[in-house]
Amino acid sequence: MATAADSKLTFTRLPHPAPVPEDAREQALADPGFGTVFSDHMVVIDWDEGTGWHDARIGPREPLALDPATAVLHYAQEIFEGLKAYRLADGSMALFRPEENARRFNQSARRLAMPELPEETFIAACLELVKTDRDWFPSLAGGSLYLRPFMFASEPFLGVRPAKQYKFLVIASPAGNYFKSGAPAVSIWVSSDYTRAAPGGTGAAKCGGNYAASLVPQAEAIERGHDQVVFLDAAEHKWIEELGGMNLFFVMDDGTIITPPLGGTILPGITRNSLITLAREEGLTIREERYSIDQWRDDAASGRLLETFACGTAAVVTAVGRVASRDGEFTIGSGGPGQLTTKLREKLVGIQRGTVEDTHGWVQRV
Ligand code: PMP
Repeated sequence: MATAADSKLTFTRLPHPAPVPEDAREQALADPGFGTVFSDHMVVIDWDEGTGWHDARIGPREPLALDPATAVLHYAQEIFEGLKAYRLADGSMALFRPEENARRFNQSARRLAMPELPEETFIAACLELVKTDRDWFPSLAGGSLYLRPFMFASEPFLGVRPAKQYKFLVIASPAGNYFKSGAPAVSIWVSSDYTRAAPGGTGAAKCGGNYAASLVPQAEAIERGHDQVVFLDAAEHKWIEELGGMNLFFVMDDGTIITPPLGGTILPGITRNSLITLAREEGLTIREERYSIDQWRDDAASGRLLETFACGTAAVVTAVGRVASRDGEFTIGSGGPGQLTTKLREKLVGIQRGTVEDTHGWVQRV
């Protein structure tokens, strides 16, 4: 649906009448947590049928005025991405594999019957915002500028069909270190009443609706004293899929690592893909194959399973220490982060922060 001309978009810079004063910004950046502090600017690009993508602009971050009939408010035609801009050891700024986010964004767009955005426009929009809001990097160690590109159906229309107008935006949110003191092991609740995605559904797309549907099972996990929920497959309630916002890896005692395959029901994580590459370079065998909840319990008990870790942009790599379900609980290894979990985490974080050589060309300087 996008035309070749779309990739030639240039960004109009709108004046900012009232940027956040420096002292208020510094205060907000001291301990930003996650997702509540926002930078001064945003990127907006419009699409409509006939014109395609047009009016790319970067201006003050401000509320959107939406007609009450705006399609996204009724039928959830919306997709998003999440990536971080890092400050490298030498003080420069960089994005990690933004072309992968651009590609996944378009995969999500196709599934939700939305127009694709040229990958170079997606990346240019992210770079433009990071350059403009370069003063919004948190000062604390481990901090980053989290970027949230998203697109929604902006046409006021109540019929159920793909909208004829869309808006693409990028906003930025300074983020602190996900774990304040190192990376602890998380405790997981296996959801037996709810599934996240079924074959043929939207599990592989990053659309808001998937996350709305995960809130009740996630709340159940928290209520029961756990950090995260793990979803099983919708057909047999047997195969492990992923967490609400992270992919899973299982480390065996023979140097093999198992991770659930990308069969359309889990999100193809960019961290997952990067870790598969790094682990293979360490001489490990990665098997992308189904792994059942029963096998997980048995392997943890027999000692065949050494480690389990979850991965994603937000927390990078996190050990899973304890797993609980209606059938009882089990502990993995010592219950804390294992050797390989720690090693892979350090390697990936090192590449992202510029302290480990980037032999894959994953780091894109701003
Ligand atoms: N699964 C789900 C459901 C997610 O929301 C995310 C976060 N985007 C991930 C996995 C991890 O993906 P990534 O490594 O690209 O952040």
